[in-house]
Amino acid sequence: LKEKIISMEKMAALGEMAAKVAHEIRNPLLAIGGFAKRLDKDLKEEKSKEYIKVIIEEVKRLERILNEILSFVKPYPIGKESFKIKGLVDNVINFVESTLKENNNEFKVIVKEDFSVPGNYDKLKEVLLNLISNANEATKDGLITLKIEKADKLPVEIPDIQKEYLLIEVEDTGCGIQKENLKRIFDPFFTTKISGTGLGLAISKRIVEEHGGIIKVESEINKGTIFRVYLPLHKEGGENEDFGG
Ligand code: ADP
Ligand code: MG
Repeated sequence: LKEKIISMEKMAALGEMAAKVAHEIRNPLLAIGGFAKRLDKDLKEEKSKEYIKVIIEEVKRLERILNEILSFVKPYPIGKESFKIKGLVDNVINFVESTLKENNNEFKVIVKEDFSVPGNYDKLKEVLLNLISNANEATKDGLITLKIEKADKLPVEIPDIQKEYLLIEVEDTGCGIQKENLKRIFDPFFTTKISGTGLGLAISKRIVEEHGGIIKVESEINKGTIFRVYLPLHKEGGENEDFGG
């Protein structure tokens, strides 16, 4: 336990430093991006315009990486709050609808019953958005299904059988994941995309596990992929369940 506490303190210190570094990088980055955009307007020569476009794109990419690193290292409270899953789903639908249209994907949402979920609303929203945007990026003219129901069984043996879990499924009919990649997709910075950051799933896994949950993937090349997130529906005893700051 002592070791665990020390490593948590280390993590918190590391997170704080990473957050500071990220902020320091963000300001000059904003300036670079802003001036590049102005140059883009003034420039007439085609070649120069091309170069400026590269700068603007790369700055955007760095901003994305910074935001994801921040989200990865920042501690957040889980606390005693809980929220209704239907509310979260409605919010997520609004968020992703237009993006899903870009790849001509149909989006199906199945929520059989509303549940009260103990946990951090914003962080679990981040998980859903990550999974849905990955599904969308892997799929064209296909179907993406978000399904929410009570889990009738868990993918692993857990001693406390009494505990009830919620199952959140994000399924797509996209390209699938190569077998040799399956064990790496949750690693930070692992990506197969040209402009990916490889942080989405690493962050999602961490958030799910911090909520006492489990994330699993099943995939078949050219058929599609299913991500399953199991979240406990009841908090374990204890008054103080706050995580980090
Ligand atoms: P990123 O999306 O920036 O690449 P992620 O951590 O979100 O980073 O995903 C890591 C990798 O996992 C992706 O690059 C992709 O190869 C694979 N992946 C994740 N979700 C899917 C999916 N639904 N279908 C196919 N591949 C996926
Ligand atoms: Mg992603």
